[in-house]
This record gives sequence, C-alpha cells and structure tokens, in this order.
Amino acid sequence: MDGEILALSILVKFLKIENFNISMAEKCAICGAKIEETFLGKLKGGVVKIVKDKKTERFYACDECQKKHGDKTKEEIAKLA
Ligand SMILES: [Zn+2]
Repeated sequence: MDGEILALSILVKFLKIENFNISMAEKCAICGAKIEETFLGKLKGGVVKIVKDKKTERFYACDECQKKHGDKTKEEIAKLA
C-alpha cells in the first residue's frame, strides 16, 4: 500500500514538472508574450533550437517577433538565452 502511494506521488510530481516545462515553453523568448495555440493544438509561432553548454534548448518566438526580426530571430534569442 505504501509503495503504491509513493509511486503515485512520484507520478504526480513528474506530471507537475511536465506541465511546468510546457507552460514555460509557451512564452515568446523575446517579448514574453504567450504563444497561442491553434485549434489543432499547434503553437502559433516558431521553435528556435539553441545549443547552450552542449545542451539543445528550445525557445519559442511569437509571430510578431518573427516578423520583426526575420532571419535574425535566432540571433535575438541567442543573445537573451
Ligand atoms: Zn514575441
């Protein structure tokens, strides 16, 4: 019984961490605006992958910032990252 409760609490913790990561990732890395989801569950915005300390991190850029920075969107995010 105790083992089951422990397993459950670990699962709950894991799910909370997952949700936290998702909500963090849904913000524009440049302006901080929330990235809206389309009705299909796709994010309105672009994903920018930046390698930092040998780890690939994903950042989001909203449509507005992508329009504003164009090809330099990645550079802008890299400066902030
Ligand atoms: Zn933005």
